[in-house]
Amino acid sequence: MLGEGIIKGMAETARNFFGSYHDADRMTTVQFPEDRIPAKENARNFPFLVFDGEDPAKGLRCVACQICEKECPPKCIYIVKDTVKKPDYIGKLQFQPRVFDIDVSVCMSCQICVEVCPFEAIKMDTDYEFGTADRFGGLLLNKQRLAKPNTYYRKIHATEAAEVDERLAAEKAKAEAKAKADAEAKARAAATAAAAKATPTPVVSPTAPAIAPAPAK
Ligand code: SF4
Ligand code: SF4
Repeated sequence: MLGEGIIKGMAETARNFFGSYHDADRMTTVQFPEDRIPAKENARNFPFLVFDGEDPAKGLRCVACQICEKECPPKCIYIVKDTVKKPDYIGKLQFQPRVFDIDVSVCMSCQICVEVCPFEAIKMDTDYEFGTADRFGGLLLNKQRLAKPNTYYRKIHATEAAEVDERLAAEKAKAEAKAKADAEAKARAAATAAAAKATPTPVVSPTAPAIAPAPAK
């Protein structure tokens, strides 16, 4: 029927308008910025960098491999890798980015950087309030602004973050078990070598006959 879509749309609007007086779920708008509609779990805007522990300088998961920088379609990621490895939050020596900038005025929220990162170090944020009068510097987010704790990641993408945490914990347990097995094998090899060194080898006199003479019949 001609105009059926318009009638359905108007009916929905009327249902929401009158329903909003007695049913909070019919309230489809809020008084922004005083009120905000919470972002959906799968919402995404611009990327951020995840860090573990309390200290973003130590706990950044990013190891500056630069894969995301190469794969970003509009080339809005800029990374300078540190020249020396530094201990991360568990004391493991890692490279870190000295500079990690994302120009969010260029970023198209495609999430490719997240898909290609092998270290679960970059994730999509749900924050969308980046309004600024400084069109250039204000939208170039540096490492300090991009770094957010894993607790924040768990808060905004609870399901996804739980899966990532589980996977990382399994990988860590596997690596620790391998390191322990390697250390034990090394210790066993060292003990065998020490035991072989400590066993005295029989000394043969150069004047002694090699074979005792046979008794006379
Ligand atoms: S965010 Fe991931 S892919 Fe990008 S440089 Fe860091 S570790 Fe590599
Ligand atoms: S979301 Fe897409 S455009 Fe934005 S930084 Fe990541 S790869 Fe680049």
